[in-house]
Amino acid sequence: MKPTDRELGMDRPIQRRDFLNGVAVAIGASLLGSSKAAAQQSASPYPPSLTGMRGLYPGSFTTAHALRDHTFWKNSDKPSDTGERYDLVIVGGGISGLSAAYFYRKVAGNHARILILDVLDDFGGHAKRNEFDVNGRKLLGYGGTYAIESPSPYSPIAKSVITDLGIDVTADARVRDTKLYSSLGMGPGVFFDQATFGADLLLPDPKPEKDADFGDPGTTETHWKEFHERAPMSTAAKLDIQRIYEGSKDYMPGLSPDEKKAHLARMTYAKYLTDIAGADPSVVKYFQTRPHAYFGVGIDAVSAQDAWGFGLPGFLGLNLGTEPGPGISHDSIQSEEAEKYWFHFPDGNASIARLLVRKLLPAAIPGNSFEDVVTAKADYARLDEAGSATRIRLSSTVARVKHLGDVDTAKEVEVAYVKDGKLQSVRAARCILACWHSMIPYLTDELPQKQRAALASAAKVPIVYTNVVLNNWNAFQKAGVNSLYAPGSYFEAVQLDLAVTMGDYQCPRKPEEPIVVHLMKTPCHPGLPARDQHRAGRVELYGTTFETFERNIRDQFARALASGGFDPARDIAAITVNRWPHGYAYEYNSLFDPFWLDGGEQPCVVARQPYGRVAIANADAAAYSYTDAAIDEAYRAVSDLLGTARG
Ligand SMILES: Cc1cc2nc3c(=O)[nH]c(=O)nc-3n(C[C@H](O)[C@H](O)[C@H](O)COP(=O)(O)OP(=O)(O)OC[C@H]3O[C@@H](n4cnc5c(N)ncnc54)[C@H](O)[C@@H]3O)c2cc1C
Repeated sequence: MKPTDRELGMDRPIQRRDFLNGVAVAIGASLLGSSKAAAQQSASPYPPSLTGMRGLYPGSFTTAHALRDHTFWKNSDKPSDTGERYDLVIVGGGISGLSAAYFYRKVAGNHARILILDVLDDFGGHAKRNEFDVNGRKLLGYGGTYAIESPSPYSPIAKSVITDLGIDVTADARVRDTKLYSSLGMGPGVFFDQATFGADLLLPDPKPEKDADFGDPGTTETHWKEFHERAPMSTAAKLDIQRIYEGSKDYMPGLSPDEKKAHLARMTYAKYLTDIAGADPSVVKYFQTRPHAYFGVGIDAVSAQDAWGFGLPGFLGLNLGTEPGPGISHDSIQSEEAEKYWFHFPDGNASIARLLVRKLLPAAIPGNSFEDVVTAKADYARLDEAGSATRIRLSSTVARVKHLGDVDTAKEVEVAYVKDGKLQSVRAARCILACWHSMIPYLTDELPQKQRAALASAAKVPIVYTNVVLNNWNAFQKAGVNSLYAPGSYFEAVQLDLAVTMGDYQCPRKPEEPIVVHLMKTPCHPGLPARDQHRAGRVELYGTTFETFERNIRDQFARALASGGFDPARDIAAITVNRWPHGYAYEYNSLFDPFWLDGGEQPCVVARQPYGRVAIANADAAAYSYTDAAIDEAYRAVSDLLGTARG
C-alpha cells in the first residue's frame, strides 16, 4: 500500500513556492503561521533563493509559446521604442550570452554599449544557482550545470576564459573531500522499486571504497554474493549481469574491431545485451537508465558503441581497442586530459556565470576571487542601470529580431521584447542570438528555409534537476548510502551534495546537519526514436505540477530509505524543482542521425551561419551540451559578427 499524502507530509509547511495561474503563491507558508516566511516566499527579489518550481517556472514561457503557436502578433502590434541604442544586443543570458559580451568587450572596449536580454528572472541560463536558508544555515545547490567537465579537452579559448575569471581547477583536490561519506560507512546503492522489480529494496554497497558518483551503482553489483542473495531479480538475470561484467567471451567472433564497432554503432545497447550477449530481457530493466545523465535517454536509444565508449559493461571479450569508431557520441569519447580538467563549485557552473557578470558589472557581485564568489550576494538591482555601458535585463522575452531595412545593407537591428507584459524595442548595431536555436525561427523571417529547418532540429533534451533540503542525513548514513542508482523510480539518481568547502562556504560534514540532496529525472519515453522521446518528455514536463514532483520525491525517499528510518513528513525542509523542458543541447546519435555515422552536413553548422548584422551562438551551435561549447560558440559568434557586419 502506498503511503497517504498525510504520511508523506504533503501538508507540511516547508520552503516551496508554486504558481497558480502564473501567480506565485507560498504553499504551506500560511500553515507556518509566519507572515515573514510568507512574504519571503511570495515576493523575494532575490531569484537564487526562490524555491518550488524553478528552471522554466510557470509564466516564464508564456510569450515564447504564444510565438510558437502564432498567437502572439496582432496586426496592430507595434513595440514601443525605449529609445535605447546599443552597439550589441545579446538574446540569452546563459554562459554563451555572457561570454559573448565578455569577448565583444575585449575587442570593442569596456565602454561598448551592450544589452543582454533573458526570459528568466536570473542570469546564467542552465547554469543555475539554488540557495537555501535552513534555520540560519546557508546551503547551496546546482539547479543545472553541475561542473567544469567535458568529454573533450577545453579549447585554448575556453580555458583562457576560465583562467581569466581566476578559476583554478587544480584546487579541486583541496576544496573537495572525496572520502567524507565513505569514512562514515556510506557509498553507492541500488534502489530496486516494486513496480519495476517486484519489491522495494535498497542494496547498499557492502564495502564502499569511495564516495559514490551521481547515479553510479559503483561496485555494488560486483559484490556478487550479496547481489545474488538479495537483488529482487531472477537467478538467470543476476548470473547474466555477472557474466556481462566479468565474462570475456567474444560475442561477435570473426569480425575485426572496426567491423564490430560499425555494427555496434547501428544497434542499441539493449539489443546488444539481449540479442548479441544473450542476456535475459529483464537485464535491460536493470541497465535501462544508466546513460540518462548524459544522453537523456536510456539504453533503448543509445548505441552499443556509445555504451562501450561510455564504460558500460559487456565488451571485455570483443577486443575493441581504444580508438572510437565512426558515429561515436561526444559523451562516449574518453580523454584523460579532459578528465583532469574538472571542478565543482557548490552551485555548479552558476559560479562561472556569476564570475562573468562580476567581470561585466563589478558592482553587481562583490569580491575578487573565485572562492569568495561562492557566498557573494548578487545585487540584482545593479544589473540593468541606466548609465551603465553593459546592462542585463531579466524577465524579458525577445519576440522579434529584425534588420531595419535590407539584411545586407541595414545599419541597425531592432530587437523587440516583452517585459512586464509590455512589448518594447531597442536598436543595436549588432545582435547575437545566444538563445535556444529552436526558438530562433519564431524570432525572425529573415533566414532561408534550410537554416530555419536546421535551427528547429536542435530541439533540446528535457531534464529535471531537483534539490531537496533535508534537516539531517541520519537516514542516509543508517542505510549506508550517499548515492542511489534507481533504474525504475521517478528520479533515477539521488545523491547527497558533494563535500566541497570553499571560501566562507562550509559543506555539511555531520549526519545531524542539514544537507542538499540532488535528484535527477529525464522524462524519456523508451521505445521511440531519441528526438520523439525528448518531444514527449518535454510535453510531460510542462504538464507536471510541483505537487506531483513533491509527492514523488516524498514517496521515493520514504521507500528507498526505509531501512534508514527516513520520515518524509519530518525530514524534508525545502524543495526546489529545476524543470528544464529545453535542457541539454541535442547531441548527434549514430542510431538516428545518419549524417553523424556516414558523414554529411551537420545541422548545427547550417544553423549557426551569421546573416547581416546578426550572429548565432549557444551550445546548440556545436550540438555539444557542455559549458566549453557555450563559450567557444560565443567566441565564434563574436568573430562572425565583427568579420561580417559593416560599419
Ligand atoms: C541540467 C543540466 C546540467 C548540465 N550539466 C553540465 C555540466 O555538468 N557541465 C557542463 O559543462 N555542461 C553541463 N550542461 C550543459 C551546459 O549547461 C550548457 O551547455 C551551457 O550552460 C549552455 O549555455 P548557453 O548559454 O548556450 O545556453 P543556456 O544556458 O540555455 O542559455 C540560453 C538562454 O537563452 C534564454 N532565451 C531563450 N529564448 C529567449 C528569448 N526569446 N528571449 C530572451 N532569452 C531567451 C534562456 O532563458 C536561457 O537563459 C548541463 C545542462 C543542463 C540543462
